[in-house]
Order: sequence, then structure tokens, then C-alpha cells
Amino acid sequence: MTRHPETVYRLTDDTWRDFERAHVWHPYAPLQGALPPLPVQSAQGVRLRLEDGRDLIDGMSSWWSAIHGYNHPVLNAAVEDQLGRMAHVMFGGLTHRPAAELAERLVRITPGPLQSVFLCDSGSVSVEVAIKMAVQYWQARGRPGKQRLLTVRRGYHGDTSGAMAVCDPETGMHHLFTDILPQHLFAPAPACRDDIEWDEADIAPFRALIEQHHDDLAAVILEPIVQGAGGMRIYAAEYLRRVRALCDEHGVLLILDEIATGFGRTGTLFACEQAGIAPDIMCLGKALTGGYLTLAAVLTTGEVSATISANPPGAFMHGPTFMANPLACAVACASIDLLLDSPWRERVAMIEAACRRHLEPCRAWAGVSDVRVKGAIGVVELERPVSMPSITRRCVENGIWLRPFGRLVYLMPPFIISGEDLDRLLTAMTAVLAGELAD
Ligand SMILES: *Cc1c(COP(=O)(O)O)cnc(C)c1O
Repeated sequence: MTRHPETVYRLTDDTWRDFERAHVWHPYAPLQGALPPLPVQSAQGVRLRLEDGRDLIDGMSSWWSAIHGYNHPVLNAAVEDQLGRMAHVMFGGLTHRPAAELAERLVRITPGPLQSVFLCDSGSVSVEVAIKMAVQYWQARGRPGKQRLLTVRRGYHGDTSGAMAVCDPETGMHHLFTDILPQHLFAPAPACRDDIEWDEADIAPFRALIEQHHDDLAAVILEPIVQGAGGMRIYAAEYLRRVRALCDEHGVLLILDEIATGFGRTGTLFACEQAGIAPDIMCLGKALTGGYLTLAAVLTTGEVSATISANPPGAFMHGPTFMANPLACAVACASIDLLLDSPWRERVAMIEAACRRHLEPCRAWAGVSDVRVKGAIGVVELERPVSMPSITRRCVENGIWLRPFGRLVYLMPPFIISGEDLDRLLTAMTAVLAGELAD
């Protein structure tokens, strides 16, 4: 092995962080940014242990995913058990039991029409797969002109090109790339919530767009009920029901991106249940493996998969190297079983009630523009963007982990959080907010 002579490769307890800072990117961050990431030594239950020994109560579930908390014995055992057989085999021409077990669970727990499952690497990739499925479906039906997508503003669907093209053009974090992306159609973000009376005007611009463009549209893509990283907004189930009806009326497929909302986060197993509707294509990710390994799934109807399969080229044209990774499938099965066997509805309701109790009073504070709570999600929207260094420092001093963005300070804790830890987390969060707003 040849080495560059001046370079010391062995990292020590004292040097690894400097090396990491100089060489490793973090999400949406500069290399060697002013705010170094906090080193985590281990994690257990709802607590993250930092290298310096401090414990933080986790309010983020590692971006919606760690619904059962960290280092869970059942999930650990599922990974270890599968590891003893095989970590991975290619999915082209080969198959395995963990993929079948996971598909069985997903078909069983998602809305009835969803019958076939494509397993891929990450949420963004699942959005690419969903878009390709919709486009290929219309080609198979002899409608190659149906290639565009219709969505609403304030959405977030991921960081790859196809997904970027349906993120909000301004808050979606991808405006630098607008010129290299396909141009899709955007209706205003839904404004009605379930706690105010439904207003027909809310759906009118969407209706106008679908009426005008349905001949060019392959699909509508939406995050149901809760819009995540594009603005942490909550909207009325009636909007979704109208979208479903308009898609049916005009021959447009409906893709629901449940990557953030899936697996109980909004109070139902899937958010679309609150509208009593099923999509033609559904994307799942994030909490799918309980936060253990990267995996996503795209489900579609028997009709869509049969149409794609029965027409040229006679195959769905996608197939990643790590498709249906057995370790990820095994832990996903264990995570779903753990969820279904747990009192998750009561837990989510408990988190919702605590968020309302602690966060609603903030509504009256100067500098707070809105408070939104849905299921195990609590959001405080401020009038001005937060200062990341200052709010992060305050959170750590108060023993909690939150990752605000822009004007949004929010939490979505692991479902297993105890009432006591939840009170600590929310008390600290409001103290942090009060401190920030007083500065
Ligand atoms: C996180 C997210 C994605 C992207 O998933 P990745 O695994 O980060 O690629 C897509 N859609 C929604 C709604 C998400 O919350």
C-alpha cells in the first residue's frame, strides 16, 4: 500500500474531529462551517450521548425516522440475525425472504388498492421511481404526451433532480438548479386547516391547473396533510379528497409522498387515511426501518403495475444496486411489527396533547407568528429566522436536541418518549424560544 509520506492517516481521540471538519460534508452545510457539528458517542432510547458525556433528549427522531428511539434491542436483534445469513445480494435474478416479508407487511398496512412494491435506497430515489412509474404508465397506455407533474407550493420531495423539480421553487432549497430541472406546474400551497371551515376557494387554483393541463399531466404529487421540510404546514383532509376526485375526473395519477408522514406520525398509520382516500402511487421512507438503515418503498396499484408490465419494453425501467437490501428489509419488518404491537395511537395522542399544552401559549408571544400541532409533530413559526449558532447552543445547554430551519422551530420526538421526558423536552424548547425572542 502506498501512502503520501507527509500524511498521518491514524486518527486519535484528539484529532479525528479536526480531520472530520476538514474533509467531511454535512447536510446543507459548507465544509468547515462556523458551527461545527456535535460529536455523538452513542444513543439510547430518546437520548443522544455526546462525546463530552452530556445527554440530550432527542426532539427530531433523526429527521422523522427513529420512531422507536435508539439502540432498540428488538431492532438490533433483527439486524444481527439477518447479518448472520447475508448482508446483501443483488436483486436482479435473485430474491430473498426479507423482501417478501416486508412487501407482505406494506401491502397489508397501506390502503387496499396498493398491491405492488418497489424497494429502493432512499426517499429521494423513491420519488424518482414514483415519477418514472407514472410516466411509464401513460406511455404504456399510449399517452406519451402525459409527462408533466402538478404539485402545490411549500412541498419538499427530496434532493435528486426529479424530486427537486417538484419541491417548492423558493423554500425547497433548490432554486440554484431551476434551469437544469424540468418545469412542472405549481398550485398555491393549501391554506385551509381542519380547524377552520372548508373554503372552496382553497382548491380553485389547483382545479384550474388540472382542468387546463390534464392532457400533459402524468401525475399529481403531494405530501398528504403535513408538508414537511418545505414549511412544516398542516392542511385540511378535504383538500386531499378534492385532489383525489379531480385526478379521477381528469385521468391523472395521484402520487402521495408519505416519506415523512408515514408510520403513525400524524395520528393515523398513513396520513391519507384521514381523508379516506388512497393514492395510485405511494412513497415511503424515513421511519420505514425505524431509523436504522436507509430504505424506501414505492407502492402502486395492480392496474398501474400490470399496465407497465404488459406493454413495451415489458419491464419497469429502474433497478438500483442495493435494491431491497436484506439487512434493511429485515429491520423494516421488525420496526413495523414493533409499531403495530405497541400502543402507538395512544403515544402519538399523548405527544399531541403535550405539544398543545406547552406550545399553544407561545402563540401569544411577541415574535411568534403561528403554532401548529398534528399528531406527534409540534411547530412554532417565528416572525424572523432563528440564529442557528445561538439556538443550537441554547438547546444543548438545556439538554435537548432540536434542528430548526428558517423561521421554524419544531419537534417530532420518538414515539417511545415518556411523559416525563416529553415535558422536559417541551419545557426546554419553550425556554429556548423565550431566550431567543428576548435577544
Ligand atoms: C425526507 C423527505 C424526502 C427525501 O427523503 P431522503 O431519504 O432524504 O432522500 C422526500 N419527501 C419527503 C416528504 C421527505 O420528508
